[in-house]
Amino acid sequence: MRTINSKLIAETVKELCIKANLELRKDILSALRRAREKETSSKARGVLDIIIYNALLARKKRLPICQDTGMVVAYVAIGQEVRIKGVFRKAVERGVAEAYRCSYFRNSIVMDPLRRKNTKNNLPSIIYTCIVPGKRLNIRISVKGFGCENISRTRMFRPTDSASLIEDFVVEAVKDSGSRACPPVYIGVGMGGTIDKATLLSKEAVFRSVAGCSRKRHIAKLEKSILAKVNSLKIGPMGVGGRTTALGVSVLSYPTHIAGLPVAVNISCHATRDARKVI
Ligand code: SF4
Repeated sequence: MRTINSKLIAETVKELCIKANLELRKDILSALRRAREKETSSKARGVLDIIIYNALLARKKRLPICQDTGMVVAYVAIGQEVRIKGVFRKAVERGVAEAYRCSYFRNSIVMDPLRRKNTKNNLPSIIYTCIVPGKRLNIRISVKGFGCENISRTRMFRPTDSASLIEDFVVEAVKDSGSRACPPVYIGVGMGGTIDKATLLSKEAVFRSVAGCSRKRHIAKLEKSILAKVNSLKIGPMGVGGRTTALGVSVLSYPTHIAGLPVAVNISCHATRDARKVI
């Protein structure tokens, strides 16, 4: 067994919260640059220039990429040969609170969904864990802004429904959102499992590089088709028009029940932010 002190977990979570908020993912930045080169609308090119400049400035000046510094979601794969000294959840929460306090990030969490009193430390966060082989902890921190989270959706399709109906459902979600999700977006889709599994898959889908594609040929075809349809909506960067509404589509699928077909769409804005470290 390997013992990992909860202090190291708290320090790592703090580091990752700060990194995710200040440093735009390299694959997203590259995709924005490629989109800028291909964009034919001068207005859209101008907006992409601003988005890219903002990301570079945030990294250099150590300022958040966006004022909405998000709700923190931690995905932690725990090696089964690891013993954690201290309380795991408390360590994660300590790391989040410390990152938001010392970096002056906006505290965006309310304790009760109806009464809406701010907790003033960006807690609680959401923590997903899974047990994997090995002696390490793989920590991924995602900070999710709610402009795009509010546009995400889930639907239980019938098992006989076709792939084209699923495509329409995803495209419709982007179309309805217009500029509210701060495009260009990265679209994560989860298909299969149960309603909760499909939603989790749609979140994990955007961890893949935006330039990648599914290894399953029929899924890769679906991703390509959704991307083409979404970009033909011509919503464009921040809604000014143009061909860059989405940077990419990533679909994850899982076996499901004979009687159902759950599908979840997770819209992630141009500030798709997460950071990962193995300790
Ligand atoms: S949707 Fe994204 S870019 Fe827009 S305000 Fe929210 S976090 Fe910021």
